[in-house]
Amino acid sequence: MTKKLNVLVTGGAGYIGSHAVLALRDAGHHAVVIDNLVTGFRWAVAEDAVFYEGDISDDSVVQKIIREQGIDAIMHFAGSVVVPESVTNPLKYYYNNTSKSRSLIESAIVGGVRHMIFSSTAATYGIPESSPVREDMPTVPINPYGTSKLMTEMMLRDVAAAHDFNYCTLRYFNVAGADPQCRTGQSTVGATHLLKIAVEAALGKRESVSVFGTDYATPDGTGVRDYIHVSDLASAHVIALEALVDDPQRSHTLNCGYGHGYSVMQVLDAVDRVTNNKLDRKMEGRRAGDPDALISDNSAIKERLGWEPRYDDLDQIVQHALAWERRLTDIQSG
Ligand code: UDP
Repeated sequence: MTKKLNVLVTGGAGYIGSHAVLALRDAGHHAVVIDNLVTGFRWAVAEDAVFYEGDISDDSVVQKIIREQGIDAIMHFAGSVVVPESVTNPLKYYYNNTSKSRSLIESAIVGGVRHMIFSSTAATYGIPESSPVREDMPTVPINPYGTSKLMTEMMLRDVAAAHDFNYCTLRYFNVAGADPQCRTGQSTVGATHLLKIAVEAALGKRESVSVFGTDYATPDGTGVRDYIHVSDLASAHVIALEALVDDPQRSHTLNCGYGHGYSVMQVLDAVDRVTNNKLDRKMEGRRAGDPDALISDNSAIKERLGWEPRYDDLDQIVQHALAWERRLTDIQSG
């Protein structure tokens, strides 16, 4: 058993970070959150976590937190995540995701923090030669978002070779759903992700759902993705944390997905099934830069970390996303 760890969670007021805070607490660890609240929400942070409003690039603040809280490890979620925005404003992505990560890693090294878990993305693969994608396949990102994350992966590799430090890079596939106890969920304003848009439409917050592309090389012509429940992803972070502490000589780069995918139509069908209603679907052209299918090979994370998903069920993912979207409506209406 790993001892109780003090973990600094950057971006802990955001979608995935707020679930990681809960997973840390459920596993008996202590979470300290730093978030600049640009996209996150103070209310999304569990009450027993220590909260600092601040920016990860503020070295003096981060180093003070590390000292004061006796930080053992960092889970690094803070960053920008909208792919089309990264194309129109690449410097924002290289600043928020790459430069600020460099500052954070330096603060970790200066402060003697020896472990980091990093939120990376399947976007580092670009358009993969084949699917499922393995971690050792070429990383050729096709947008600045993927490149900004890949550059941070490279920094971590080099820093681990030079210092007493190890890391786990987790490459997320399509993260969806919400905490099964409805304590937090996807709350981002103006989100662009399919399931979030679909549940908003199901609750009357949107008129319809656009289907971007119907001529892909997939069984029904719409894009196929590997949707992973956010709570399974959060638990992967806790297992990764414990693995880093247990074997400080070893670092990891691991895919996080279920190893199978659903098309856009199948996701919308699941929403229709769960709500017993019919979403209005608008067939549109392809969105720039979207691959046909993106599915993980998840054998490495299962074998190395013993990770086992608990919510690998599309209808359940939809149910949890819907339950959270209803709760969010209540929160937003005060
Ligand atoms: N998609 C869609 N309509 C939307 C949003 C997304 O058809 O309103 C499709 C998108 O083209 C892709 C899949 O849904 O095939 C997942 O897209 P999302 O933006 O959720 O995640 P991404 O895979 O881009 O990270």
